[in-house]
Amino acid sequence: MYHVKQADIVIIGSGAAGTMSAIYAHRADPGLKVVVLDKSKMETSGGAGRGMDALNTVALPPYSQPEDVVELMTKVTEGILDQQVAYRFGEICPRMVADLEQIMEREKGDLFPVDENGNYRLMYLHPIDKPLLLPMDGEEMKRALAHAVRQTGAEVMDRTPAIKIVTSGGKVCGVLAVNIRTGHYYYIKTKAVCLTTGAAGRMGLASSGYLAGTYEFPGCSGDGYAMAYEAGAELVNMECFQANTLLKDHQGPSCGYVAAPRGAYTVNPWDERTWSHGYSSGDSKMGAWKRFTQGRGPIYLKMDHLDEQMIQIIEKIQWGNERTSRGLFHQSREQNYRNAHAVELAFAEEVGVCGGHSSSGVLSDTTGVSNVPGLYVAGDVDGGLPHSYLGGALAMGGLIGEEAAHYASGIPEPEQRTGLKAWLRKEAAEFEAPLGREGGLPTSLVEFKARARVQYYLKPPKNPVFLEKAAWWMERIRQEDLPRIQAVSLHDLFKVQEIKSILTVGEMMARSSLFREESRWGYQHWRVDMPAKKPEWEGVWVVIKKGEGGEMTLAKRQSPAHQWEYPTSMEYAYPDLEFDTGPMFQKGPEWKNPKDDPWMKAHLDAQGMATPRRFMAKEEN
Ligand SMILES: Cc1cc2nc3c(=O)[nH]c(=O)nc-3n(C[C@H](O)[C@H](O)[C@H](O)COP(=O)(O)OP(=O)(O)OC[C@H]3O[C@@H](n4cnc5c(N)ncnc54)[C@H](O)[C@@H]3O)c2cc1C
Repeated sequence: MYHVKQADIVIIGSGAAGTMSAIYAHRADPGLKVVVLDKSKMETSGGAGRGMDALNTVALPPYSQPEDVVELMTKVTEGILDQQVAYRFGEICPRMVADLEQIMEREKGDLFPVDENGNYRLMYLHPIDKPLLLPMDGEEMKRALAHAVRQTGAEVMDRTPAIKIVTSGGKVCGVLAVNIRTGHYYYIKTKAVCLTTGAAGRMGLASSGYLAGTYEFPGCSGDGYAMAYEAGAELVNMECFQANTLLKDHQGPSCGYVAAPRGAYTVNPWDERTWSHGYSSGDSKMGAWKRFTQGRGPIYLKMDHLDEQMIQIIEKIQWGNERTSRGLFHQSREQNYRNAHAVELAFAEEVGVCGGHSSSGVLSDTTGVSNVPGLYVAGDVDGGLPHSYLGGALAMGGLIGEEAAHYASGIPEPEQRTGLKAWLRKEAAEFEAPLGREGGLPTSLVEFKARARVQYYLKPPKNPVFLEKAAWWMERIRQEDLPRIQAVSLHDLFKVQEIKSILTVGEMMARSSLFREESRWGYQHWRVDMPAKKPEWEGVWVVIKKGEGGEMTLAKRQSPAHQWEYPTSMEYAYPDLEFDTGPMFQKGPEWKNPKDDPWMKAHLDAQGMATPRRFMAKEEN
């Protein structure tokens, strides 16, 4: 059943960025009609759905300045950055922090720690000598943001994921969405879209083998990346992968960002430090990869040198926020932070892409707009502001809400595409087709297959043959399996949509990895056939876009000239990986049998090549 709605702004994804977009859009122009769509339920959805214990990267004077954010991002992206976007983020951090206190109705010094002068007390974590991490008692954050959104009067449509951003004349004009519970379709005519769908986290398979056990929020299967691509947006850094260190078997974060600023660090079983800093970037992932490849795992989070008070502080944060199951998990394994080698970490190597933890996403400018007029992006799906985590999602989420409101207030209703009704019927028929299929392939099987291929062929170290195979498999699954997939419920039907997103994002990851003919960002884009950074790729984005004929097109683009001269490299070296297989294996088997195998040749001559005997038609008497 169809419902056509009218809005000025549609926000797709009500996580951290999306909720802030709604709040700021309302503030900028309370007269605008704002619709908020989420795949899940706004109160608990997204990466920060269960609360958060820190804003990993923010600039708050006097501890740190906007330039410090620029310095960090310049370094961790190895110079491939629009510094003006980073600076803009740094500038608006203070207002975001003040707003969050107000939205959560918390006093200064209660939600975030302050020093004796009343300044927010930031901590050190990053691979530059500046404090940029702000601890937070944010267990209630998401619920408070959701409450504030509902108070704006925005129409919140939970469990109604968007499946398409519609354009007319190259500009945003609508959003197609489906309610997972009722199966009702919504076409929402709109002037602007704030795309805040989070990371493409559910991409590769976790080493645990769990299909659902991913680090990112499970709903973040790259829909936003795929929808933006289909709508004509440009995406960058899709070859700069995200890979996480997890708490072994728990599938949650490694606790590093809670423990590292408080004196913990990672060691191997010989108590050797695994890396020089505790920040999650391509160089430290390379270090973890090397440890495991050399058989020098596991990796432990070393905390037994900390005093009792600090251990209790870490326990309180670890067990109360983000993952409330973590305390129980440790308890049932008798893992006590006071003992050596108590907390085992796993380098999951589960590849995905994310603008918040890494650099991949839709290219945006200082106003958060993409190359498609009316399409704004923020948070983990945003490739314009890398490594900005929750702070970036909140601050830039607010900014795009404001910017989208200014844009929507100033333009007339966009024209709709011609033949809209017929097009909507066609879209619905295509979307629903898997529901009617008898005896088709289960969605979980196809999802497993797609993600297993992503993991097998895309996991660094990369080589061109693996990358080609990854792209080939994405297309083959699209052609061969998608037409046979069977959905048994509405929920299952949406899984099919998610698989389509996984295939599109997987292909982007493969093609941009092939296109960037060098290695960069440590583990994140390591090609064994080209294991070095190349000068011609300095400052260069790989831009992916859907071509006129529907093909994936890739191009090199120089990122804007830097205003600030900060270091543009991390410290790591790519290893030489030609392992010696030893004298026994060098020899190879002797060839002694006849070259033409007459017995088999006789069979071939009699029966032909293609058909095994059991399939041959019986001769009639
Ligand atoms: C386990 C974990 C721990 C973290 N710890 C920290 C930390 O301590 N500090 C820090 O700064 N950062 C941390 N981060 C990162 C931070 O949570 C993210 O950067 C931030 O939440 C991103 O916000 P977002 O709004 O972009 O995405 P999300 O908050 O993930 O929201 C995306 C939303 O989009 C919705 N969605 C997806 N597809 C669709 C669709 N098709 N239609 C409609 N809705 C859709 C999802 O349901 C979800 O609600 C952590 C992340 C994780 C996963």
